[in-house]
Amino acid sequence: MATHTGKCDCGQLEWTVKLEDESHVLCHCDTCKKLSGGAFTLNQIVPKDNVKVLKGDLKNYTYAGESGNPVHCYYCANCTTSPFHHQTVLGDKYVVRTGLLDNYKELKPSAEIFGKAKLSWLPEVATTFETLPPS
Ligand SMILES: [Zn+2]
Ligand SMILES: [Zn+2]
Repeated sequence: MATHTGKCDCGQLEWTVKLEDESHVLCHCDTCKKLSGGAFTLNQIVPKDNVKVLKGDLKNYTYAGESGNPVHCYYCANCTTSPFHHQTVLGDKYVVRTGLLDNYKELKPSAEIFGKAKLSWLPEVATTFETLPPS
């Protein structure tokens, strides 16, 4: 388990995340597309305690997730970069945006989730699940 550092676009927010392995989970859900403006997001689910905010102010946007439970999206109060989400349905875990970590280019895709909403012209780069992997 290695500690990774991340910074928002404006540089006011800095954080560290301990990852279980060096991988990204691609999320193709429609909310990720809306919030990022991109085709998918890069993530990993980690225990809350693995995330430390070193500096900066976080704001919080709350919306209803796939299960209907609230999801808190935390973002830099200045530039809106969002380092992690808390899906209350996951309890003491955060969904961290691995694509915002300083060494994101070294991480490899390990799975694709919400494949049902994936853009048809994207190639498959890892095992794809319709929604979430069976738990
Ligand atoms: Zn910022
Ligand atoms: Zn998503």
